[in-house]
Amino acid sequence: MNKYKDIATPSRTQEILKKHGFSFKKSLGQNFLTEPNILQKIVATAEIDEQTNVIEVGPGIGALTEHLARAAHQVLAFEIDDRLIPVLADTLSPYDNVKVVHNDILKVNLQQETAYFDQEGPIKVVANLPYYITTPIMMHILASDLAIAEMVVMMQREVADRISAKPGTKAYGSLSIAVQYYMEASTAFIVPKTVFIPQPNVDSAILRLVRRETPAVAVKNEKEFFKLTKSAFVLRRKTLWNNLLNTYGKDEATRAWLETSLQQAEIDPKRRGETLSLEEFARLSNALEMNKEK
Ligand code: SAM
Repeated sequence: MNKYKDIATPSRTQEILKKHGFSFKKSLGQNFLTEPNILQKIVATAEIDEQTNVIEVGPGIGALTEHLARAAHQVLAFEIDDRLIPVLADTLSPYDNVKVVHNDILKVNLQQETAYFDQEGPIKVVANLPYYITTPIMMHILASDLAIAEMVVMMQREVADRISAKPGTKAYGSLSIAVQYYMEASTAFIVPKTVFIPQPNVDSAILRLVRRETPAVAVKNEKEFFKLTKSAFVLRRKTLWNNLLNTYGKDEATRAWLETSLQQAEIDPKRRGETLSLEEFARLSNALEMNKEK
């Protein structure tokens, strides 16, 4: 069907690495996928078609990029490692709908860069993320003004569990809330470590995030809401009350403000942060805002 040999087979990957004299940098989270079936499954999970514009983080030698290029309208990929730029120019030369930008994803202005897309259509982020900065990358993308419709991203299984965790579980925390506020999160499938070169120490998971039409809960002040949810988990074993005092201050006026707001939100201060749902955090955040205004 396709006249080009897949990049992502163990033998072709080795051939490319050898041709370009490439050696892996562990510090850049370089674990390349060598299993075309997994790549097909990622593209299928992201439901990419010829209308879709795709952003990829860390194309490596282009294993996932070429599968995306075959299915999508256009692909915009950001790679930090300068040694990979000529490799990608070589491996992706058959595809004219891919642009590789040599930059750190955390430094790019996504809004500006996406001017590359010459046709309107849903923007999806699809990537095998560098594991050392999974969370900052997720936050950078979610906090950008770009309307990302969907993200299908590979990460350490443990981080995927934390992002999709429900209240009352050990994995639930401010990361789960920060992501679930904007997106519906679910684990699509697990990827064994054996399909990478070099093999990582842990298994990976494909996380699927679908943008909610409106945020999961209505909050008056998003910045304060995220400050509150972060503060509730600073010391996980402490009560909500102790964590709130640590963040907001222990003086009389602050105590009174916190007490009144907790009462109004009907939340027991002796509970631990990990037991509060998004709705409860929103209620408390809104009460704090309201009482601040008085
Ligand atoms: N997509 C390829 C694959 O699946 O085989 C490679 C994935 S590898 C896990 C992560 C890639 O992200 C590497 O190519 C690495 O150089 C790149 N990378 C690491 N930090 C980055 C950053 N801050 N910005 C952009 N790319 C980065």
